Amino acid sequence: MNPAQRERYSRQIRVAGIGEEGQQRLLDARALIIGMGGLGSPAAMYLAAAGVGELVLSDFDRVEESNLQRQIIHRFEDIGELKALSAKRALEAINPECRVLAIDWQLDGDELAEHVRAADVVLDCCDNFATRFALNRACVRLGTPLVSGAAIRMEGQLATFLPEAESPCYECIYPGSFENEETCALEGVLAPLVGVVGSLQAMQAVLVLTRQLEAVRRKLLLFDGTSLSWRSVSVPPDPECRTCGFRQNKGRLHSA
Ligand SMILES: [Zn+2]
Repeated sequence: MNPAQRERYSRQIRVAGIGEEGQQRLLDARALIIGMGGLGSPAAMYLAAAGVGELVLSDFDRVEESNLQRQIIHRFEDIGELKALSAKRALEAINPECRVLAIDWQLDGDELAEHVRAADVVLDCCDNFATRFALNRACVRLGTPLVSGAAIRMEGQLATFLPEAESPCYECIYPGSFENEETCALEGVLAPLVGVVGSLQAMQAVLVLTRQLEAVRRKLLLFDGTSLSWRSVSVPPDPECRTCGFRQNKGRLHSA
C-alpha cells in the first residue's frame, strides 16, 4: 500500500477487523456485480469507494427516465446510455484507482463461468429469477461466494451463500420459484429501500473479502420498510437441493 492509499483508506483501516491487512485484501480483490440498477448502484459505489481493486459490471440495459428515481449511479444526462458504461464512468469518478470492466451484453454460459471463476465475490443485483438461478449454479460449481439481494415495494431480502457444505445456496431457499415473478415495474419500489439492501450487499461483500465469514454464514436477512424492522433467519442447506446437495452428500460419504 502506498502513502496515498494509506491516507485515502485511513478511516477504514482504523476499523477492527479491517486494518492494513484487510484493506490490502480489498485492494487485491475482484468483485463481479450483475445488474447496474437499484441494488447494483449503491453496491458498486461503496465497493469502489472502499477500495476494491477490480469491479466487473454486467448489464445490457440502457438508462431510462423511470430508473433515475432509485438507480443512483446514473445521471439525467445518461438517459439512453448503456448502464454498464454509465456506471463505469461514475465509479471511475469516485475512485480513479479502481479498475472497472463494463460488460454491456448478456453474460451467460462459458463467459459467465469465466468471470465467476475469476471473481473473489459475486453480487447478484439483478431483477429476474432466470439470471439468479444461473448465477447461483455457476457460483456453487466454481466455489465463489455469492451475495444475493432483492427489493420490491417496501420489502427487502439479502443473504450471502458461501461455497461450503455448511452453507445453503440460493436454490435451497427459493427452490424453483420461477412462477409468480414480481417486478418493480408492476409492484413499485421505494427509492431508499434499494439503497438499504444494495449497501448491505456491499457490506457483506467486504466482510467476505476480509474473511469475516461468521457474520454472514447461513443468514437470511428480511427487511420490512413499513415497520422499519429486520428479521434474521438461520437457513440450513437442503441436502436434497439439486444445485448444492452434492456438497452434503460428499460430506456424508466421508463420515460414513
Ligand atoms: Zn442449494
